[in-house]
Amino acid sequence: MRQLGRQAGSALTQTRTVPAPDDLRLELIGVPAGADVPLEVRFEAVSEGVLVTGTAIAPLAGECARCLAPLTSSVTVGFQELYLYAESRHDKHEKHDKHDDQEDQDAGELYHLDGDLLDLEPAFRDAVVLALPMSPLCREDCPGLCAECGEPLADAGPGHRHDEATDPRWAALKQLGDTEDNHQDRRARAIDLQEG
Ligand SMILES: [Zn+2]
Ligand SMILES: [Zn+2]
Repeated sequence: MRQLGRQAGSALTQTRTVPAPDDLRLELIGVPAGADVPLEVRFEAVSEGVLVTGTAIAPLAGECARCLAPLTSSVTVGFQELYLYAESRHDKHEKHDKHDDQEDQDAGELYHLDGDLLDLEPAFRDAVVLALPMSPLCREDCPGLCAECGEPLADAGPGHRHDEATDPRWAALKQLGDTEDNHQDRRARAIDLQEG
């Protein structure tokens, strides 16, 4: 950071790997706490402070929303944060005649983010949460689970079906309620299970 001058437009890019913060997940998928997150950060001096632009690759682990199989992937996120120079914060409402004196002070004390990337965590966290899929899939065309037995249809194969008449007691009940409406109910339920 110290190489970055205060002249607007001067910029510096750093790459590093940081451990993922805790509790960065939605219901089905998230970033494992402590996992390596490669991070590229660009610091750019602007008139009021330092504009920090980050790009991170967050590893993801979770389960498929259709078949519940474990899955891993990653998501690339970008985020941006403006850090004000110390005097921009404290003297915001004072007159500009003080400004020239402060301009001459050692730039080192003005960077309260010097060497400290923890300040970036909220911006990183927000970006990742927005990028996490609500319904992660193990693969785009995951067929989900069999609505009857719960077996993953990808494993069961295309010929997977159930003999409706295996148990005569259930078969009898089925015949009693075998109206057109019930057929539609069952079909709707099966679709819900596959998609939900
Ligand atoms: Zn799946
Ligand atoms: Zn089945």
